[in-house]
Amino acid sequence: MPEIEVLDKQTIDKIAAGEVIERPSSVVKELVENSIDAGASMVTVEIKDGGISLIRITDNGCGIDKEQVKIAFLRHSTSKIRSVDDLNSISSLGFRGEALSSIAAVSQVELITKTPRAFSGIRFFIEDGIAGELEEIGAPDGTTFLIRNLFYHTPARKKFLKSAQTEAGYINTLMQHLALSHPDISFQLIINNQPKLRTSGNGSLKDVIYQIYGRDVVKELIEVSFENEIFQMKGFIGKPVVSRGNRNFEHFFVNARYIKSQLLSKCVEDAYKLHLMQHQYPFCVLHLTFQGEMLDVNVHPTKMELRFEQPQLVYDAIVPAIKESLEEQELIIESTPLH
Ligand code: ADP
Ligand code: MG
Repeated sequence: MPEIEVLDKQTIDKIAAGEVIERPSSVVKELVENSIDAGASMVTVEIKDGGISLIRITDNGCGIDKEQVKIAFLRHSTSKIRSVDDLNSISSLGFRGEALSSIAAVSQVELITKTPRAFSGIRFFIEDGIAGELEEIGAPDGTTFLIRNLFYHTPARKKFLKSAQTEAGYINTLMQHLALSHPDISFQLIINNQPKLRTSGNGSLKDVIYQIYGRDVVKELIEVSFENEIFQMKGFIGKPVVSRGNRNFEHFFVNARYIKSQLLSKCVEDAYKLHLMQHQYPFCVLHLTFQGEMLDVNVHPTKMELRFEQPQLVYDAIVPAIKESLEEQELIIESTPLH
């Protein structure tokens, strides 16, 4: 047996990066979430070649101080929590401090950033985890990340990627979810120089749904609003005519984070049971807000899953609330006189 040794830092970072950065859309997710956490009101994402050769993300958020730029790329460095206790009341999307170090371990990164206090911006390159010098340059307030040649020296990972078109499709879906999660932020996605998605950031969830799904869906929406001692739920459900053949149109956001949840899917599907044919799934965009103590978001590195403290209470509240909204709507339709 060879001797047992602790791995060197670069190897550790590359292994860890594999958990967070699986494909171009993972880079976009991490960086846009950072822009949201930075208080941006505008985020633009540009990709080339499905994000494999280039991802450019520009925000007008708080920027990063010159002295902090290099620290931001260290593993487990974060400005968002200080101790494990903070996890109970987490309000940011990030907190693991793993994204920037992971991205820098598997791509060529260029960062341009400026805080409102600073007189000039900073440009910084980091590649293969090796940092360059900080350069002063003119830049607007906010942050731009350029990620070039993802997985350029991890061919095994690169081989496992799908076609540029499929990868771009994942990024488009991700951007739709991010836009639906934050109607108060204007998002733009540009794929190979073509605008693909643009939301106004005017705060209206219905407008975002319109910008993504168009008029045919928006005219069949029912507004939902519900509140009890443990959580609040707001959003829209689709009338049965806009139901779909798969679950991709069930959108759930918990504390403004897009999540997949068997529990929430079951709630909505059970509420629709009498209204949908078999193998049909409802369209919905539902925002749930819980007090932090009711949730555990630290279940998985991508944070797409979470644990509810009291699933039965959630179920017992959501099913009747949705049923009622659906049935009220049907009563209105039934009582409308025919012409
Ligand atoms: P986390 O988001 O979990 O804190 P990251 O590795 O994603 O960890 O980012 C590290 C730190 O870099 C963040 O905590 C934040 O302070 C800073 N940062 C990253 N992106 C931005 C951005 N777009 N604007 C301002 N600060 C940022
Ligand atoms: Mg982050």
